[in-house]
Amino acid sequence: TDAYLTAAEASDALNAYTTKTPEQARDMAAAADARIKAGDAPAMCGIPIGVKDLYAVEGVATQAASNILAGFKPQYESTVTGNLWSSGAVMLGKLNMDEFAMGSSNITSAYGPAISPWRRAGDETPITPGGSSGGSAAAVAADLCLGATASDTGGSIRQPAAFTGTVGIKPTYGRCSRWGMVAFASSLDQAGPVTKTVRDAAIMLGAMAGYDPKDSTSANLPVPDFEAALTGDIRGKTIGIPREYRVEGMSETLDTLWREGAEMLRDAGATIVDISLPHTKYALPTYYIIAPAEASSNLSRYDGVKYGHRATLAQGDGITDMYEKTRAEGFGEEVQRRVMLGAYVLSAGFYDAYYVRAQKVRTLIKRDFELAFGDGVDAILAPATPSAAWGLGEMQTDDPVQMYLEDVFTVPLNLAGLPGVSVPAGLNRQGLPLGLQLIGRPWEEGDLLNIAGALE
Ligand code: GLN
Repeated sequence: TDAYLTAAEASDALNAYTTKTPEQARDMAAAADARIKAGDAPAMCGIPIGVKDLYAVEGVATQAASNILAGFKPQYESTVTGNLWSSGAVMLGKLNMDEFAMGSSNITSAYGPAISPWRRAGDETPITPGGSSGGSAAAVAADLCLGATASDTGGSIRQPAAFTGTVGIKPTYGRCSRWGMVAFASSLDQAGPVTKTVRDAAIMLGAMAGYDPKDSTSANLPVPDFEAALTGDIRGKTIGIPREYRVEGMSETLDTLWREGAEMLRDAGATIVDISLPHTKYALPTYYIIAPAEASSNLSRYDGVKYGHRATLAQGDGITDMYEKTRAEGFGEEVQRRVMLGAYVLSAGFYDAYYVRAQKVRTLIKRDFELAFGDGVDAILAPATPSAAWGLGEMQTDDPVQMYLEDVFTVPLNLAGLPGVSVPAGLNRQGLPLGLQLIGRPWEEGDLLNIAGALE
C-alpha cells in the first residue's frame, strides 16, 4: 500500500486520481494485515485498488467527474465497493473518468483528462488512456494501483484497457449490482475491473459481483469461482470470427494481430469458424439513441436541489431559473448534448420513429448473438477498438460523431447484455498497444476468461 501511495504521489502528471485517500488506505491495509495474521484472508485481502469516481464511497468525494456533483460526499457505499472492502481490498483513492462516463478519451472530465503512461516511439505527445474509465486504465498501466473498478455502458472498460495494454472485463448485464454507481444508461451500465492480467481480472470480478436486492436488474445467481475456471484448457471450444467486424480503414497491424490471436486459440485446441452478425452496422446508431435517452432521464435528478452544485441566483429568479442556471453551469458540453439528444428521441413526436425503433433493432442485435451461440460458438473474437489510442488534442472535438465511431466494436455487447473482455494483443507500428476482444455467452465469464488466458 505504501509503495502504491508513493507511486501515485509521484505520478500526479498522469491525472489518474481525482482524490487520494492515504489515511483510509493505511487503516484498511492495517486491518487487512490483521485479517491475514488471524488466518482470515479473503481473495482481495490487502490488495490496493483505485475506484472510478462513478462509485459512491461513503464519506469520500464522488462526482462522476462532473461539476454538478461538486462537494457531494455520499452517506452510503455502492454495493460493488462494499463487496470489495468485505473481501479485504484497500482503497487508494478515486479515479478520473469522462463526465458521467460519457466519452472515449477522458477529455470530458471536469478534472481535465487522465493521461496514458504510453508514448509513441520518438514522440512525446501525451496519449489518451481512452474513456470513460481512463483514470482506471492509466492507473493500472502505470502501476499506481494493482487493479481498478471501472464501468462499461458502451465500451468504457474494454476500450481503455485496449488503449493501455491492460485487461478489462465487462461481465454479463446483471452480474454486478449497479446500486451506488452514478447512473448513465441503466439498461446498459455494468461494473467490472481493469487489471494487469486475466487472473487478476477473474479474482477482482469475483469479489465485485453478486446478487443485490437493492438493484432490481441484478441477477439472483451464485457467483462461480472465476479463478478456478482458469484451467488453461480450451480444447474443443469453438471461436467465431465475425465478418462484420472487419471494417474499412482498419490497420494492417490490427488485422494481423486479430489473425494471430485466432491462430493462438487454434494452437491451443480451439476450432475457428467464420460467423456473421448481420445487424452489427446498426449497433452504433441504436446505442446513440438508447444511451442518451436513458441518460436524459437519469440526469434529470441533478437539479440543484438534492445534492451538488447550485447556481448563484439573481434577484427575482424563480425555480426554473435555478434549474436552468445550475444545469448550464454544472454539466459539460458533451453531457448537455446527450441530455438534449435523449430528450429529443423521447419527445412525443419522435418517440416511435427513434426510441421505439431503436429498441426493436436492439432485439435484432441480441438475436444475432443468440443465433451464433445457438450454433455452437463458445466465444467470438474481434478487435476491441478500430484503432490505437490517439494523442491528446488529435481527435476533432467539434465533431462528436468522430468519437462515437470509435465505439463500433464495443457497443453491440452492451445492447445484448453480453460479457466481453479486452486483452492486450500487441503493439502497433508506433509502439502503442492494441486489444483483442472476446465476447462470451451470458453468465459464462469464467469460460470467457479461461479462453482469454490463451491470448496472454
Ligand atoms: N464511449 C461511449 C460513450 O461515450 C461509452 C461510454 C461508456 O461505456 N460509459 O457513450
